[in-house]
Amino acid sequence: MKTEIIKINNPATAQDELCRAAQILRRGGLVVFPTETVYGLGGDATDPDAARKIYEAKGRPSNNPLIIHIAHPEDAEQYAVTNEYYYRLARAFMPGPLTVILPKKDTIPVEVTGGLDTVAVRCPSHPVAHALIKATERPIAAPSANISGRPSPTSADYCISDLEGKVDMIIDGGECDIGLESTIVMLRGSTAVLLRPGAVTYDALCCVCETVELSAAAEGTLAENERPLAPGMMYRHYAPNAPFVLLDGAREAFIPYIQSRRMSGEQCAVICSAEEAKALDEKNTVIYGDPEDLTTQAHRLFSALREADVLGCDVIYARKPATDGLGLALYNRMIRAASHTVIKI
Ligand code: AMP
Ligand code: MG
Repeated sequence: MKTEIIKINNPATAQDELCRAAQILRRGGLVVFPTETVYGLGGDATDPDAARKIYEAKGRPSNNPLIIHIAHPEDAEQYAVTNEYYYRLARAFMPGPLTVILPKKDTIPVEVTGGLDTVAVRCPSHPVAHALIKATERPIAAPSANISGRPSPTSADYCISDLEGKVDMIIDGGECDIGLESTIVMLRGSTAVLLRPGAVTYDALCCVCETVELSAAAEGTLAENERPLAPGMMYRHYAPNAPFVLLDGAREAFIPYIQSRRMSGEQCAVICSAEEAKALDEKNTVIYGDPEDLTTQAHRLFSALREADVLGCDVIYARKPATDGLGLALYNRMIRAASHTVIKI
């Protein structure tokens, strides 16, 4: 299949391109588009065949459900059973990086929800994503636009390298602002269960919901034989090709540890701060932000994993991040990219 690649920076001046993309989606095709979290691999969420195509293009197991993207929070009425707690979350965080799991209506086929009777709903704030959903006049089912298991794409180039030839169109809308996938919550009465941490943090949810529970998968403590509430949290994910290892210890121990690995002859790549890279002579280092600057680390993490891979080393190291605020989302992605390999230093 030939993939058309187009650039859209401002939807207001790209009506023709958006109409073409919407037409592809309405005819059952696939369009990759930017969102504020990561790029999405979109198909018509009311079309079971489009869902099948998404799973095939991504190489994703079809029991791992897709998130549906809507233009306005109240559009959820057509596809899901909402309640006052959904609207509380919507008022606080939508449009934005929050996904809410709700009981599904028949308008959404089970192919989209991996056989579940619930559906994941999100209303993205990215202007291109919003304009595309509006132009399509359908909800768009979209997982992250990467080959299953690879780091999620935060720029169009990564989507092109993973999906060119497998989708009808890729819309290049520049770099994604946040860089980590949406926060996912499931509502149990007035309790919000946090299934996947993201830029809407645990503390932010606590300001809006009566009770917030942290699932084991969100915390990174899910046992190997346990089933997570969000099926996707079960799979090894976000992983570069080289083994990725988290180092858990004080800042002072990090540089000497890497130096000792180098002395032993190990070819190691390191994802770290600019200051740490300097201390390591900038050899096989990839900078992803200062330890205190979680926003930049989140923005850069997935690119950093891909960049580290290109260095062709035997192993990639990074320090285990603090797990408060946005750090929980970072830690959640890193621990899974590392397949839970953590070394105490
Ligand atoms: P991705 O689209 O790649 O960001 O992954 C979507 C995530 O949402 C996966 O972890 C899915 O398992 C999860 N998800 C989607 N729909 C549901 C649902 N109905 N119930 C629980 N988790 C869901
Ligand atoms: Mg994904």
